[in-house]
Amino acid sequence: MTFLETDIFAKIVAGDIPCDKVFENERILAFRDIAPKAKHHILIIPKENYITAQEVTEENKALFGELFLVAKEIATDIHLTGYKLAMNVGETGGQIVPHVHLHLLSPDFKSEL
Ligand code: 5GP
Repeated sequence: MTFLETDIFAKIVAGDIPCDKVFENERILAFRDIAPKAKHHILIIPKENYITAQEVTEENKALFGELFLVAKEIATDIHLTGYKLAMNVGETGGQIVPHVHLHLLSPDFKSEL
């Protein structure tokens, strides 16, 4: 698969595409993956349009770090005892949607993500 041309997650943030939302604050949105690869497969995204994690800087590192904080809060809320966090970075890193997103998977995740 290759990078999509359209930032579909920006459309989800804008409310133009529906999602199964599990968390939202001013900076972060989390919703269930449309093609889950585990019982719980949740995508945690910054609302701001960063394309890949290569855009992390000293200035925005708190926002990128907050993705992990939200992952912990969701995992606690849905009573996960363990989970996998993954982020594909860039087309050759397996990323398809051109908007930074952290995958949270549990349990029984498939290894090919
Ligand atoms: P990537 O390969 O870019 O790390 O993962 C993109 C993920 O976004 C995939 O797991 C895919 O199933 C999911 N996805 C793609 N389009 C949509 C959509 O419109 N809604 C939701 N909820 N997930 C999507």
